[in-house]
Amino acid sequence: MSLYRKRLRVVRGEGVYVWDSQGKKYLDLIAGIGVNVLGHNHPEWVSAIKEQLEKLVVAGPMFEHEERDEMLEELSHFVNYEYVYMGNSGTEAVEAAIKFARLYTGRKEIIAMTNAFHGRTMGALSATWKPKYRQGFEPLVPGFKHIPFNNVEAAKEAITKETAAVIFEPIQGEAGIIPAKEEFVETLRDLTEDVGALLIADEVQSGLRTGKFLAIEHYKVEPDIVTMGKGIGNGIPVSLTMTNFDVERGKHGSTFGGNPLACKAVATTLRILRKENLIEKAEEKFIEVKAKDVVMTRGKGLMIGIVMRKPVGRFVEELQNRGYLVHTAGQRVIRLLPPLIISKEQMNKVKSAIEGVINDLSGGEG
Ligand SMILES: *Cc1c(COP(=O)(O)O)cnc(C)c1O
Repeated sequence: MSLYRKRLRVVRGEGVYVWDSQGKKYLDLIAGIGVNVLGHNHPEWVSAIKEQLEKLVVAGPMFEHEERDEMLEELSHFVNYEYVYMGNSGTEAVEAAIKFARLYTGRKEIIAMTNAFHGRTMGALSATWKPKYRQGFEPLVPGFKHIPFNNVEAAKEAITKETAAVIFEPIQGEAGIIPAKEEFVETLRDLTEDVGALLIADEVQSGLRTGKFLAIEHYKVEPDIVTMGKGIGNGIPVSLTMTNFDVERGKHGSTFGGNPLACKAVATTLRILRKENLIEKAEEKFIEVKAKDVVMTRGKGLMIGIVMRKPVGRFVEELQNRGYLVHTAGQRVIRLLPPLIISKEQMNKVKSAIEGVINDLSGGEG
């Protein structure tokens, strides 16, 4: 077997750093695509997980356990939803949200946004926009419709009494870190309420890292369903679908969903984030990169997109050469989703490093 391209071989992580097989050290600014919010090998998190491994890993979704109570208690410091369904990945959280919306409303139509990314299982993929992800897998699930993101008029036209739910990312992640406009989000809330449809905020990527627990808290809007994943367990695969209504037991489920280990991972992650006030502190760690060829820096807190005039591949590569791991979002956006334990000073260093690379590579090219 061979990989489709040669990639960095990572062997170990500690805090905000990872090491490759040559022993070279990197500042990890992508953190498992937004997963390792506490960085790598966080001592308190590791010891809680180790203890849990020795105590109970999977009990079966039909049983109660104290790890779930502990998780719900931790969650209650941040949000107040009536019901939490647990899955094992972001795409499962979205899948559940779609099913719950159809079950609850008795309607079929799901409205999603252009450029949206919601995952890759058939339901979530049907809400995902880019042909790159969809091609070759059709026919997808019927009943899905896409409207232009941030277009108020299009929303007014599309949302009707046929609509079960509208799903959107408060800050689109894979699309290139594009924040939703306030007026647009408020319109979605008003219209869905008017027609009896549900509003789903997909916070799998934007959760935890914008200075608030949920990015939607920056808007004056409360969604009916919220999905979370990526960083919520700091690396143990787990996702949440939170709703303001109860969902019939037995109508949806998962063998691994909500297992004690996953619950412990979420509870511990949230406890550490809360104790160290890391979510709130993320907001002031945003950096604005200023260099030739940079159109703008978008996002909030530690969810950052540096929009370039050119394809970003060689900038990403050169940053890696200089010891900084970053990721892309589309062709022209450099994406940063750093661990929340990163310091403001380190982020300032990152800003200088990125500006340095851009200036060096763009110099003399007009
Ligand atoms: C990553 C992502 C998903 C899918 O999560 P997986 O864990 O990869 O299945 C869904 N929605 C959004 C907004 C994401 O960023």
